[in-house]
Amino acid sequence: MAAITMKNIVKQYGDGFPAVNDVTLDVQDGEFMILVGPSGCGKSTLLRMIVGLEDITSGEMRIADRVVNRIAPRERNLSMVFQNYALYPHLTVYENIAFPLRLAKTPGDEVERRVKDTAELLELTEHLQRKPANLSGGQRQRVAMGRAIVRQADAFLFDEPLSNLDAKLRGQMRTEISRLQRRLGVTTVYVTHDQTEAMTLGDRVAVLRKGVLQQVGSPRELYEQP
Ligand code: ADP
Ligand code: ADP
Repeated sequence: MAAITMKNIVKQYGDGFPAVNDVTLDVQDGEFMILVGPSGCGKSTLLRMIVGLEDITSGEMRIADRVVNRIAPRERNLSMVFQNYALYPHLTVYENIAFPLRLAKTPGDEVERRVKDTAELLELTEHLQRKPANLSGGQRQRVAMGRAIVRQADAFLFDEPLSNLDAKLRGQMRTEISRLQRRLGVTTVYVTHDQTEAMTLGDRVAVLRKGVLQQVGSPRELYEQP
């Protein structure tokens, strides 16, 4: 687990308006933080700067008290879940979940233990030998989540993970993500333009507009004002 501290973060892509403009924001240890705002407000850019996929123009980014401005993505020990949950179609559920551990050359017995624990948490134990084509949409989403959490990263980062799903599955996955995050207690930053997700998922919501942080507060503080 790790706190994420952003101090005066700026991202300037060209000559225009900064995509992210002087954002200062703390995400506490174990907290579920939502970044919300209309398309183009800088949510993805901010998330990509946390992960290290985008250089920071100015400001300071800290993860677990370490300044990471110049630390490569793979050395930040974060796990990112994208919109597009592509699974490897030729691999079983087991091997799909194990994939990041194989890349990291994790010993076989540890891979087995972690994949089994993860599968149990996501109720995928009976499906471990199946291929993605033989799963339901919801099960496929859970395999993708499994792949993201099996590495025991310091924090999870989600970039609109539900936006390509139909309404029913989106509702299911909202519940699932929320349950999982609370169970694991892992620091999470979740980008969305969806008000329902912002209101229901997070401990706190950060509202961005044109690159500027406008408000930060609990869903209650932000959405139930008299
Ligand atoms: P959001 O995720 O809220 O939709 P983005 O972070 O994707 O917003 O984009 C914020 C602004 O930065 C937009 O104006 C977008 O066009 C611009 N932008 C994003 N990525 C790039 C890039 N690689 N080069 C130039 N401009 C970019
Ligand atoms: P999203 O809004 O979901 O972040 P976009 O369609 O805005 O996705 O961006 C997709 C990709 O295009 C990203 O890698 C982003 O960096 C890049 N991009 C976005 N806006 C611009 C832009 N104005 N100029 C160059 N690249 C851009």
